Amino acid sequence: MGNTQRKTARGAFETVREVYGFACLHCGYAWKQTYDIEQHIDRDDKPFFIYYTNGERVPSPLSMVTCINCDEHKVRVARADQISTMRSAFPFTQDRRS
Ligand SMILES: [Zn+2]
Repeated sequence: MGNTQRKTARGAFETVREVYGFACLHCGYAWKQTYDIEQHIDRDDKPFFIYYTNGERVPSPLSMVTCINCDEHKVRVARADQISTMRSAFPFTQDRRS
């Protein structure tokens, strides 16, 4: 009791900006998305994260991603600094052929 955290208590958590790269295994589409990630601590002192893109709250890119091209869920995710590694694993993302 008396220990409630206020949602509006800004500064109580850290926000980081990370870019994730996505590659759809279904249609081969690849794209990037920037996330603002708020790091929170829950009542049990366990960290959890809230993700935003363009100021809108979105599900974690690591839990479930829908391909923006074909709506399938077979999407590979990697941090932007790991994309080059991912590319060699998925040659179809190398260049865009029309
Ligand atoms: Zn797709």
